[in-house]
Amino acid sequence: MEKVTVKNLKTGKKIEKNIDGVFIFIGYVPQTEPFKNIVKLNERAEIITDIDMMTSVSGVFAAGDCTEKTYRQITTAVADGTVAALNTIEYIQAL
Ligand SMILES: Cc1cc2nc3c(=O)[nH]c(=O)nc-3n(C[C@H](O)[C@H](O)[C@H](O)COP(=O)(O)OP(=O)(O)OC[C@H]3O[C@@H](n4cnc5c(N)ncnc54)[C@H](O)[C@@H]3O)c2cc1C
Repeated sequence: MEKVTVKNLKTGKKIEKNIDGVFIFIGYVPQTEPFKNIVKLNERAEIITDIDMMTSVSGVFAAGDCTEKTYRQITTAVADGTVAALNTIEYIQAL
């Protein structure tokens, strides 16, 4: 990565900027299509979970950016995963 060309969509003017790297903004749409007929999703296609990360289907857990929440960071995804994993163990042991 050496440089990018930025185009002003209003004026059409292009400028070049020398840069070392780039973060691609991939958008917010979660890839939950395969699960839409299995668990409940919200209007943004995010999986709805309760506080234990359990979805609308008993014994099915979800974690991370694909779930309904305000902040999407490594720390929140990892925390979700911990909660989901521990509750999965508890769910199985209770069967
Ligand atoms: C450009 C950018 C910069 C960011 N910077 C920061 C930062 O500085 N600090 C920070 O804390 N967070 C940052 N984040 C957010 C952070 O990356 C996410 O919150 C975190 O990665 C979410 O983890 P996740 O495991 O929920 O989802 P992901 O990391 O998105 O993992 C989901 C995985 O599932 C896979 N997958 C999808 N569909 C399927 C399928 N059908 N079958 C099998 N696998 C599938 C994907 O390929 C992917 O590997 C950034 C995100 C982006 C895009």
